[in-house]
Amino acid sequence: MKTITVNIVTPDGPVYDSEVSMIIAVTATGEMGVLPGHIPTVAPLGIGAVRLKKENSTELVAVNGGFLEIRPDKATILAQSAELAADIDIARAQESAKRAEGLLQAKKDGVDFKRAELSLKRAMNRINVYEGNV
Ligand code: ATP
Repeated sequence: MKTITVNIVTPDGPVYDSEVSMIIAVTATGEMGVLPGHIPTVAPLGIGAVRLKKENSTELVAVNGGFLEIRPDKATILAQSAELAADIDIARAQESAKRAEGLLQAKKDGVDFKRAELSLKRAMNRINVYEGNV
């Protein structure tokens, strides 16, 4: 089975380093599937799940923005934040989603709606990755 090395790095440190057979990431323009031998590319990432397929399993990582850099034998994700499903604090993500929803529903002056929307999107992404619902 052909594989590609995947490194996921954030400002807090490395999150993932392993060989996989396929990467599926959410880029700014949609989902992108990457197989070993892919042509060199750089793609901006949105808030979404990165799926890392191995022979008999798939690992999920909640990624928040950044870039995916692809070379034929190696892919690097430089993300603002990234958590493996097992490292997600589900209570924190649920609290964060609730807080953001409250701000979005309040319709009060002074609420930064774009910021609240992005916070809700990050929290929902973490909840979906934790639940394997991607
Ligand atoms: P919160 O509202 O809970 O602070 P946030 O979306 O504002 O969430 P970020 O700014 O995206 O948080 O992340 C800050 C740091 O906290 C990052 O290192 C990120 O990996 C980590 N983090 C955020 N939420 C969670 C979570 N639910 N589980 C594990 N780590 C988390």
